[in-house]
Amino acid sequence: MKVKQTIEYQRALVYCRVSTTKQVIDGDGLSSQEHRCLQKAEELNLEVAKIFRDPAVSGGLFTRPAMTKLLEFLDDRPNEKFVIIFDDLKRFARDVQVHLLLKTELVQKRKVRLECLNFKFEESPTGRFIEFVMAAGAQLEREQNAEQVKNRMKARLEAGYWTFCPPPGLKFEKDPLRGKVLVPNEPLASIYKEAIEGYRDYQLNTLDAVRKFILNKYSVHGINRPLSLNGAKNILSNSLYCGRISFPDWNISEFQGQHQGFISYETYLAVQDKLASKAKPRLRKDYSPDFPLRGYVLCHECKEPMTSFWGKGNGGKYGYYKCKNESCVRKNKCIAKVKIEGDFEELLSNVKPKKELLDFASKILIDLWKERSDSQQEVREGLDKQISKLDLKNSSLMDRVSQTSDHTLINVYERALAKNAELIEDLEKEKAKIKYPQNGFQTALGVVTEYVGTPIKQWQSQDYRRQRLLLQMYFEDRIVYEPGLGLQTIQLPLILEITSKIPLNKAKMVEMPGVKPGSKTCSLFNYSQD
Ligand SMILES: [Zn+2]
Repeated sequence: MKVKQTIEYQRALVYCRVSTTKQVIDGDGLSSQEHRCLQKAEELNLEVAKIFRDPAVSGGLFTRPAMTKLLEFLDDRPNEKFVIIFDDLKRFARDVQVHLLLKTELVQKRKVRLECLNFKFEESPTGRFIEFVMAAGAQLEREQNAEQVKNRMKARLEAGYWTFCPPPGLKFEKDPLRGKVLVPNEPLASIYKEAIEGYRDYQLNTLDAVRKFILNKYSVHGINRPLSLNGAKNILSNSLYCGRISFPDWNISEFQGQHQGFISYETYLAVQDKLASKAKPRLRKDYSPDFPLRGYVLCHECKEPMTSFWGKGNGGKYGYYKCKNESCVRKNKCIAKVKIEGDFEELLSNVKPKKELLDFASKILIDLWKERSDSQQEVREGLDKQISKLDLKNSSLMDRVSQTSDHTLINVYERALAKNAELIEDLEKEKAKIKYPQNGFQTALGVVTEYVGTPIKQWQSQDYRRQRLLLQMYFEDRIVYEPGLGLQTIQLPLILEITSKIPLNKAKMVEMPGVKPGSKTCSLFNYSQD
């Protein structure tokens, strides 16, 4: 559980703004806005410390004089936390840049709470959508970085050098020419060698025998280290121990690496044969959390979240969701996981965020990108300046060298030249590092908007974190599932729209008591598969 820090707010600031002179004159201007804001402060039981007024100013948040003053006011009082009351945040929020600035400058940096008369910023689906897009953008960026790192690592792997953590029994040693190379790490290497060769020679015949042998050796050497059966198997099947490298995840199949290892390739092969000939116990592993909808799908009787479990039957394992509410008539009644999740997937494949929101999303991303690309441009320009300064110095040094015949002086100049050349080289390297992939951005943007724009893809990523993020964003009001009828009373959030019609034979409109057919509360997605 996250511990929420509670902040005491005692005073409020009121910020009013009207965008046209007409509004100022017409009276939907400052005074009435101000009045409404003051009322709000009273409602919240807050003393108003100051009112900031920006009449008839347009443009970004920080070109507004009163907003600047407001920020200064806050900065002068770092120990007091204020609530800022806006009349109409929507007017601000339309501007992406302003949205970001508001959030970072006011909320994040200055821990202000925003109160708005007509717009719930944080809790609106739009607000959440924006958060989500930002998260998606950040994630994409991380992935892109990871991709670069991966490419470098992959290149080194392909050259025969292990680039991950060395396994026990091996360690990295720095070689002046080849960089970090794996070498045996004693005493583990010798222990493992003996165990592996013992297994090869039928002195140790089971994984447990190997495990016990190694543990025994550990204690002889005073090594306090656990070892599982699986760990013993890993030791027997690690090709790094015979100097070979492979990494199937990156399509690198086994080949002779640049390091030696401590067992022979023949031994390794013999051991693999022996391992493979044994009947393998079937491993049942559930890699991803099994019930992504848990907590979001409600029992249709009691509207409590259902729990979930794996059941056995018919020689297989079947997932179920069930009501666990003691006082519910459907207590312990189960609904198959495949049914609920299948219906949910079908729902998702028929919706997408509204176009205006996607446009909004790409605006945010372009904005973020531009901001960063600009700041990188600055860094680059700074480096360029330093380089040209050094260039200039060097050419004057060259002149001096050519004008003197004093060897001592020439030596001094030449040393200075060499040093400058080194500096320039370093700066160039630095410059190369910050090159922002200009052309990569459009692709990146495409990926994010496509991803964000296709909820079903987010869902099918099978990434639990992404799935939950999606649920948080679109289905915070939860989903009700009624057996036989399917997903019930889904009120699609306003930010989603339906992209295609559900095939008629599956669609079954359900009349809810007290709800007119065809109204919004009547689900578009009630269908049964009977
Ligand atoms: Zn129930």
